[in-house]
Amino acid sequence: MTTLEAHNITFAYPGGNPILTTWSHTFTAGQTTAITGPSGRGKSTALYILGLLLTPTTGHVTLNGQTLSNRPDHTRSWHRAHHFGFVFQNAELDPTRTLADNILESCHYRNENPATRHNHALHLMERYGVALPPHRRPGQISGGQAQRVALCRALIGDPLVVLADEPTGNLDAQSTTAVINGLKEHAATGRIVIISTHSPDVVAQCDTHIDL
Ligand code: ADP
Ligand code: MG
Repeated sequence: MTTLEAHNITFAYPGGNPILTTWSHTFTAGQTTAITGPSGRGKSTALYILGLLLTPTTGHVTLNGQTLSNRPDHTRSWHRAHHFGFVFQNAELDPTRTLADNILESCHYRNENPATRHNHALHLMERYGVALPPHRRPGQISGGQAQRVALCRALIGDPLVVLADEPTGNLDAQSTTAVINGLKEHAATGRIVIISTHSPDVVAQCDTHIDL
């Protein structure tokens, strides 16, 4: 069973004060976990560390017992491409690429032909209520739609771990339900889903809650 562990993590940005001081938590497969806390507390930073985008100042991150946070860049990149999906706070789609190419981007990092996943990308867009023309570009869709396209991008590789940074921040109630149900379904297939949020409704729908 998949486990993702934060062991005694402390992090400081250059010149900044330590945040997440000696933070430890074990995330288990099949569960959604909500991370809350006031702005600036370190929710996004915690997700970046768990997702191997930032290296903790002290402490380490393990996936299935293997320490990954201290590995070289190319090793962490390989694990990110194969095991992690991200939904960034403001979607962060590549404005120069089509929606389909944004969703399929991680295929390149797994040496998969994106064409073999094209139908899956369309299926995810339909599933999350963004069945838009796939050749459109991010500048031609709304912020809420961009957030749902970002969710499709995170799920395309069926990752063991999904890290979602305020994924419903721009969404109306109906889209919020679609996104949270989708994340819960993904967790139910034996995956780990971690969601930072300010929404008490989202917290109530998650299995576990960490208040930073
Ligand atoms: P949250 O997601 O809970 O709002 P963040 O993880 O974004 O918090 O930020 C935690 C703290 O780190 C804040 O004080 C923020 O100003 C600071 N911070 C975030 N990113 C950087 C950065 N790239 N360089 C320096 N300080 C940063
Ligand atoms: Mg944040």
